[in-house]
Amino acid sequence: AKVDNPYAGAKVYVNPDWSAKAAAEPGGSKISNQPTGVWLDRIAAIQGTSGARGLRAHLDTALTQAAGSPLVVQLVIYNLPGRDCSALASNGELGPTEIGRYQTEYIDPIAAILADTKYASLRIVTTVEIDSLPNLVTNVSPRPTATPDCDVMKANGNYVKGVGYALRKLGAIPNVYNYVDAGHHGWLGWDDNFNASAQILKQAATTEGGTVDNVTGFIVNTANYGATKENNFTINDSVAGKSVRESTWVDWNRYVDEQSFAQAFRQELVGVGFRSDIGMLIDTSRNGWGGTARPTGPGAQTSVDTYVDGGRYDRRIHLGNWCNQSGAGLGERPTAAPATGIDAYVWVKPPGESDGASKAIPNDQGKGFDRMCDPTYTGNPRNNNHLSGALANAPLSGDWFSAQFQELLKNAYPAL
Ligand code: BGC
Repeated sequence: AKVDNPYAGAKVYVNPDWSAKAAAEPGGSKISNQPTGVWLDRIAAIQGTSGARGLRAHLDTALTQAAGSPLVVQLVIYNLPGRDCSALASNGELGPTEIGRYQTEYIDPIAAILADTKYASLRIVTTVEIDSLPNLVTNVSPRPTATPDCDVMKANGNYVKGVGYALRKLGAIPNVYNYVDAGHHGWLGWDDNFNASAQILKQAATTEGGTVDNVTGFIVNTANYGATKENNFTINDSVAGKSVRESTWVDWNRYVDEQSFAQAFRQELVGVGFRSDIGMLIDTSRNGWGGTARPTGPGAQTSVDTYVDGGRYDRRIHLGNWCNQSGAGLGERPTAAPATGIDAYVWVKPPGESDGASKAIPNDQGKGFDRMCDPTYTGNPRNNNHLSGALANAPLSGDWFSAQFQELLKNAYPAL
């Protein structure tokens, strides 16, 4: 039987492949023993690629690390047809119509390995298909933020079908805990997106005979940069007669940080029919925003903008920026049950791995060049036409980015 919170009373698997890269960096040994997500980001990742062991090898190593005690292994299921429809940096190997290959060449082999009784003692957490379903709510016509590829994936139904299939197949395994991706506060925290996203998550979980019992919970902020808690202002504050919701930064969002969003979205998900015992994960790998630029108290009460901008930890140029953000630092270290409704703070995005290349780089993984990773780019409707805030000279998404790793160490909060 599944436990309520797999992280409670358990250690978490340290990926030796990531750990070695982190440890090879100056100062990296301060964090190289931290658990991070194992991304199954293409079919070949199941068998293993150069520099990354395959799934069985990870699970065998996990059994050794467990040494008979409870251990969580964190896998990222990330290979949908038409992947990353609102951006280009993480486009994948499967075209929009290749749902059959997703099922038979990707999910089925993963499920077969996870179901091996040899691994029955492990608590296997799967975080399922980052960014996919939220894209079908916010980045489709007639919204100004629509992209042609997201319109295609909405119309052909293959994101909903694929997520539903993954949840059914993986959720049927007694020691697998599915957490579905639920975007982040700077995406789904607006009224237009909040309930609509809960609805599409429910639709995917219950498609083709699936049930909500296959869903242990949801993950927010995966590979994103939203602060866990903004302590210098709340959504209920007003300055000079105006609500902080009217500030340029908040822009009518209902949430100012990831934890308040995660807790509220959890309630919304229960409201649409998910189990009342679901738990949330928050990816805190890169949302620390420490270092010298970190505000030490609230901003000046001259206007809502001076108040919010002077106090916020999140130093991004715009909340919609997502690629290799300049000034970011490591966030809270992975922790079990840190707050009500939160199963864990996790490091799903491995610190030091790029979000996308700053210029076009030929590759055989289907990855494109997204100008949101180019520091000179002045933006698009999804970041309200602001500079991208990305670090220069970044390699392909998933590749090691030493300069970013160093900045994450330097700006860690809590400090290392
Ligand atoms: C990339 C994946 C990579 C993951 C973790 C994603 O942006 O597309 O290839 O495994 O990040 O770094």
